[in-house]
Amino acid sequence: MRIVHKLSDLRRAVAGLRGDGAAVALVPTMGALHAGHMALVEAAQASGAKVVASIFVNPKQFGPTEDLARYPRPAEADTKLLTEHGCDLLWMPGVDEMYPAGFATNVSVSGVSDGLDGAARPGHFDGVATVVAKLFNQVRPDAAYFGEKDFQQLAVIRRMVADLDFGLEIVGVPTVRESDGLALSSRNAYLSADERARAVALPLALTAAKRATEAGERGAIPAAMASLAAAGFAIDYVELVDAATLGEPVPGRPRRLLAAARIGTTRLIDNLPVAASTNV
Ligand code: AMP
Repeated sequence: MRIVHKLSDLRRAVAGLRGDGAAVALVPTMGALHAGHMALVEAAQASGAKVVASIFVNPKQFGPTEDLARYPRPAEADTKLLTEHGCDLLWMPGVDEMYPAGFATNVSVSGVSDGLDGAARPGHFDGVATVVAKLFNQVRPDAAYFGEKDFQQLAVIRRMVADLDFGLEIVGVPTVRESDGLALSSRNAYLSADERARAVALPLALTAAKRATEAGERGAIPAAMASLAAAGFAIDYVELVDAATLGEPVPGRPRRLLAAARIGTTRLIDNLPVAASTNV
């Protein structure tokens, strides 16, 4: 697997991959790679495309009190994992390559960015949309793969691609979980053994609330919040929304249940699909 750090090298390397007429798929990441990221690489490979992964810990999507400085950066292990999985090219720009002096543009997707994590983390989705727009222009892929784990991020990117005519396919990949149900996340590395044991309350609460909601029961969300609080989580939100707009649920349309909560100093997010219902 070739690794490039400069935009000029990236352009040449991508042109090389396309040489024999192959499609190119992009898998954007912030590194600290795990089986969830590899599911994106595998899905991209299954499409027959050449796969470009990117690793960039994007300062613009971290708030001033967030974990930018301590975010894990295990470059060697990441490179090894991508090589083992047969990734074709790794794009690893430095911060100065991504945001040279004088950089002044912000991509902001309103509506779908506003609630949930957008409300809890002001500016986060502007940072995501800005860097993803740049990655799309840098790599010019035919398709890009994102995890449903970051469900609101996926919705923001779909909106941006439609609005700005990027002309590439966005593919969402289901969340990869540990055997007890906890969604794989680079941030799970922050959890102590005790916190890790309690963290399973997050997928359990969502699963119970999904079932109760689909069974037409009321009070599923307060019950989920109570079980998260009992496990020691500080809750940012537990919300049931329309799966496409992330606004109010609409009768007959697929819904999504999303949660964000902090255990100790670690913030975890998760979400599950909830079947459409005629009486929301
Ligand atoms: P990150 O490195 O956390 O920015 O994530 C990079 C990409 O991997 C995003 O599209 C995430 O949604 C996706 N991803 C992260 N964790 C998982 C997971 N457990 N299952 C599937 N995709 C994931």
